[in-house]
Amino acid sequence: MAEWLKRGLDTDAKAQADRKVRDLVEATLADIETRGDAAVRELSVRFDGWDRESYLLTDREKQDCLDQLSGHDLKDIEFAQAQVRNFAQIQRESMRDVEVETLPGVVLGHRNIPVNAAGCYVPGGKYPLLASAHMSVITAKVAGVPRVVTCAPPFQGRPAPAIVAAQVLAGADEIYALGGIQAIGAMAIGTASIAPVDMLVGPGNAFVAEAKRQLFGRVGIDLFAGPTETLVIADDSVDGELCATDLLGQAEHGPDSPAILLTTSRALAEDTMREVERLLTILPTADYARKAWETYGEVIVAESDEEMVRIADGLASEHVQVMTRDPDYFLANMTNYGALFLGARTNVSYGDKVIGTNHTLPTRKAARYTGGLWVGKFLKTCTYQRILTDEASAMIGEYCSRLCALEGFAGHGEQANIRVRRYGGRNIPY
Ligand code: NAD
Repeated sequence: MAEWLKRGLDTDAKAQADRKVRDLVEATLADIETRGDAAVRELSVRFDGWDRESYLLTDREKQDCLDQLSGHDLKDIEFAQAQVRNFAQIQRESMRDVEVETLPGVVLGHRNIPVNAAGCYVPGGKYPLLASAHMSVITAKVAGVPRVVTCAPPFQGRPAPAIVAAQVLAGADEIYALGGIQAIGAMAIGTASIAPVDMLVGPGNAFVAEAKRQLFGRVGIDLFAGPTETLVIADDSVDGELCATDLLGQAEHGPDSPAILLTTSRALAEDTMREVERLLTILPTADYARKAWETYGEVIVAESDEEMVRIADGLASEHVQVMTRDPDYFLANMTNYGALFLGARTNVSYGDKVIGTNHTLPTRKAARYTGGLWVGKFLKTCTYQRILTDEASAMIGEYCSRLCALEGFAGHGEQANIRVRRYGGRNIPY
């Protein structure tokens, strides 16, 4: 049986925090619904101290942001974007349209149709998270979305040049300097100055994730992508310093980011806990990381790889870093995770920033039912059908007529019967 050497916040405390966020988001979205741009502007001032006549960035402002970055910075952004675009294109090619004759004269098909307008949120409250622009804007464009709108909050009192550069280079059609609930609400509900989108994507803090959740139905959403979570699965083939580095590398996202070590080695668990304390004395972002570790950090010692798979699937963590002798065992057996990072050579930061897989991933156990953002999320797989011959219509019609009778659907039955009569079948009366 597994043993917890350190446990995170209990579920009651989590539920209470969730309720507060839920109520605030509900009231804020209602305000945007009623007062449109005026509410958005007031909320931007209230939550971000950021006031503008129009939140849409002009071409001049976009160019200024690009000019503020060095040539090396721009090349690095372009390299990361090329990796994301390349993998997204490969995934897009795997999503073929289908048309097939399933019975003589019966043709079924589906087309993958991009949504017409997507709103891509790029988080930027604590750090200017430019990588999120590659992940959502590029992926939407590769999927073929004609109108890609993107919002990011101001960072230190102005649009973050690196985010704006990434939004521009990714090919966004409209860039707004807006953050939080007001950005999500404005894109989904629409205002006089921002036309509504059909779908919202991208990660964000608890307010952003909850706003997307509440707006689901009115618009589509990619997934519930809230505060980052990481699970490090390790055995004694690695050391505590590596595990602690990978835990804190994600805990620094914010004070509500769970970081969990799951290991078969008690010695490694203890070594990692010591290393976490040591690194927290030198990490420049230790303020966030310490709060996250103290509140949500966990250390679990399990008896076997099988037990680690069971526990990991129960946690359904956003990121799962596997550093054991046989990482492929976890690839073959785990079913609930946002993304897997296999072996010590790679790590979550590579995925977050540059390697090419998408970093917008499910949190709060949403990995039980969805993977992360990818081109497929922007595509609607819509079916169609046609019948090529009278015989095929009459044959399907006879089955349909009898099945409608079983359900008591007279009108549906008659849709079949009229065709059976016209196309020469036996015309089974309802
Ligand atoms: P953010 O852009 O998500 O949120 C900042 C905005 O939140 C601000 O502009 C402000 O308007 C709003 N806000 C802040 N405090 C508020 C309050 N008390 N009431 C109402 N609104 C408030 O940026 P962030 O805060 O830095 O958070 C980014 C988040 O994104 C982190 O939690 C990170 O872990 C997460 N993330 C998740 C993924 C994923 O795929 N799941 C990927 C990357 C980042």
